[in-house]
This record gives sequence, C-alpha cells and structure tokens, in this order.
Amino acid sequence: MKKLLLLFVFINVVAFGQKQKMAVNPIKTAVIQSVDKHQQELISVSDKIWAYAETALRENKSSKELADYAEAQGFRLKRGVAGMPTAFTAEYGSGKPIIGIMGEFDALPGISQKAQPTKEALNPGAAGHGCGHNLFGAGSLGAAVAIKELMQQGKLKGTVRFYGTPAEESVGGKIYMARDGLFADLDVCLDWHPDVEIAASTQSSQAMVDFIVEFKGKAAHAAADPWNGRSAVDGLEAFTDGVNMLREHVRPSVRMHYAIMSGGDVPNVVPEYAKIWMWVRDSKREGVETVFSRVKEIAQGAAMIAGVEARVTVQTGDYELLVNRTGASALQKNLEILGPINYTAEEIAFAKKIQEVQGGEQIGLDGKIHPLKETQEHPTGGSTDVGDISWIVPEITLIATTAPPNTAWHGWSVVACGGMSIGHKGMVLAAKSLAMTMVDLFENEQLRKDVRTEFEQRKGSHVYKAYIPEGPPPLPIGK
Ligand SMILES: [Zn+2]
Repeated sequence: MKKLLLLFVFINVVAFGQKQKMAVNPIKTAVIQSVDKHQQELISVSDKIWAYAETALRENKSSKELADYAEAQGFRLKRGVAGMPTAFTAEYGSGKPIIGIMGEFDALPGISQKAQPTKEALNPGAAGHGCGHNLFGAGSLGAAVAIKELMQQGKLKGTVRFYGTPAEESVGGKIYMARDGLFADLDVCLDWHPDVEIAASTQSSQAMVDFIVEFKGKAAHAAADPWNGRSAVDGLEAFTDGVNMLREHVRPSVRMHYAIMSGGDVPNVVPEYAKIWMWVRDSKREGVETVFSRVKEIAQGAAMIAGVEARVTVQTGDYELLVNRTGASALQKNLEILGPINYTAEEIAFAKKIQEVQGGEQIGLDGKIHPLKETQEHPTGGSTDVGDISWIVPEITLIATTAPPNTAWHGWSVVACGGMSIGHKGMVLAAKSLAMTMVDLFENEQLRKDVRTEFEQRKGSHVYKAYIPEGPPPLPIGK
C-alpha cells in the first residue's frame, strides 16, 4: 500500500512539473530570453567592474560602466544623486506601478585575487570583489533591461527603476539615497546578493550602529613629569575594559567589535589622543539602541577614570531587514520554474580545489532550488543597508550561488569565483528570477497589495529614522 502510494505521488509530481513548464506565462518566457540575449554584455559589465575593484564611494569607473550601459539601453539617467558622485538611478516607462531594483558595485580593500582556485593577488595590495558586488550590480541591471524590453513592446505598463547604490561595505550609500526620498514612490523594491546557495530570502539581517570614540587627554614627558599628563590611551583602555565586561550582560544576539585606530605615537610621551572605531549589532534595532546607550555611558565612565574627555560620533548604521514572505513566495515560484544551476566538471573541480585549499569539506557547489525556508527573525551574521530600504518599501531579496560553501566570505575565493563562470551563472539566474518576479508584480495588482499588507504589518507604527548624521555623505578625500 505504501509503495503504491509513493508511486502515485511520483507520477503526480512529474505530471505537475510538466504542466507547470507548459503553463509558464509567455511574458516570463520573454524576460528569460531577453536575459539570455544580453548575457554576454552583462558578463562583460560584471567582469569589468570585477577588474576595477573600486572601494566605497570611489567606484567611479564601476558606476559609469553600469550607468552607461543603462543609458545605451534607453533608460533615463540621474547621475550623482543624494550627494554621491557614484550613486545613480536609471528609469524606464511611466506611471504606476513603480518597481525598483537595486545594484551594488563596491569592492573590499586588500583582497585582490586572480580568477583561479588558489590564493594569488591580481594586483598585490589592491581591492577585490570579496562580496560579489560586481555580479550584484550587473545582474540587477540585466533584470531591469529585460523588463524595459517588454515595456517597449507594450506588454507591461508602469515604471522600472534601477538604483545604482554605492558604498554598501561602509558608509551605507542606500541610506543617503533613502534620506533624499529616492525610494518613497516605489510600490515594491527587489535586490539580490551573491551567496553559497540559491534562495528566496526569508532571513532578516542584523541592525547595527557604526561609531567612533575619541579620547582627548594632556601630553607630558612620560618620565620627567607624568603627573602633569592625562593619558588618552588610559581612557581608551578603560573603555575597552568596560565594553568587554558588558559582553557578559547582553543578549546572545548582540555582537560588539572594534578596531583601535589611534593609540599614541611613542612610549615616552603621555598620549593626548586616542581613537577607537566600533560596531554594535543586534537582530533588532531596539536591541542596538539599548546596548549603544550603555556603551556611551562606558565611554564617559572611562573618560572619568583617566581624567580625559570622550566624544562619541555616529558614522552610520543599518536597520534589520523586514522580511516579506509574500514577495519571497512569488520569487520562489519563479526559481522553481527556472530550476537549478547546472555546473560543468571544471566548475565543480574549481570549487573543490578552493574547499581543499581552505580546509573545508570538498562538496563542490550548491546550485539546487531548495524549498522556501522558515522566516528567520533573529539571524546571526551580517548587516546591510538594504535593511533600511525594507522599512520604506516592501523588499524582496534573492540570494544566489556565486561561490562554493565552506568558503571564507569577504575573502579571496569569493573574488576568484566572481570573476569566472561560477559567478556568472549565479548572476544570470538572479537576473532571470528577479525579472520574472517583476513581471508578477507589474501584472498582478493583488500581489502588490498583499506584499504591501505584509510590509505594513511588520513595520507597525515604527517611524523610520536613519542613523546617518546630518549633512552630506562622507566623500573620500584624495585618490
Ligand atoms: Zn555584500
């Protein structure tokens, strides 16, 4: 009986699979074909940005590469928005609905790497795309271009807007764009991120605050008259002592990390200045606020201990991401229509070599389409300025495989895979599945309403207020 039942289920699944394949919306077939048609161009854009490897707010060539491509495709460009020369929007169509899609393109300092499975810098000391943002930008733009082509043919109505969002790895470019109201008129926004698996994301991200604490004391000869001095480094040390005691009394979801930026120059002068850069994270913004107010008190207490002054300056901060399960479910269906990424023997060998070098289990790549996961409200791991956008407009996030599991993220192997076919395949899947989901959003008013309802429920009465300080974005000085 059991065997019979299993057989029956199997036949049904196969029949369903075939039926599903045949029933694909022709407009979705058209966006898939559009991405295929532009595939080589998208790869070329991505590879150029990969080679430029420009860091936060210095992404001049990378931003231009994407913006010029969008302009050549017929998009209306606004360059240098929100006070950042590398931020831009590219729009096509008119009227409602307005569907946005974001693309990043900044690299990480110091991790230049060749597109090979062993560690070797392309340009020693230079930056590298250890978070795959070269693929992120080009893939999202590819999706926008596919939608534009359907609008051109009169098959979709509304506006598609690509956001060229700089400086995700520091500063938080999207937050400045949000402050200028650039996301305010959107119905829904989409994005994706390179990863080690494919998923319609139902995982939040961590809220965080990024700040500097400076200590000002009084210099003196360290042997002749130390009693006339007040050490700023004493203040800094008392501060880190306090922070490390606080660790015992925070929730398990809290993360605190710091780097000492300035700690005196020479031992024989009582240091008059010290500086520490710190992040506090938690799975919810309220948790960050609670810990951050304790940390500010510790800074004042430490200053009192050392007889110096302390000053705390907020640089930026991210909200946690508001998951939109309704939107993720729509994306999931499109991933299932597309099916898994198939890798060649060479690609699997490339991945396994990386795993061997990094001492991880040699399991190759994960190109599968997994079932939609449970919503994760309290994730460990990173923060993103996409979180801020998700409090302004319903946000749908995809993750797609561009590197093997058991890989050190923000590391050389992610750079390596992002500059070759493993990364390209993830980018193409992202462009297709996001474009298909945009088709759903343009065509299906009820889906837009349902996505909006879930967003309003999750947001509740909270009024979004960015962490960034008043004034223009902190543009880098010099080269
Ligand atoms: Zn990233």
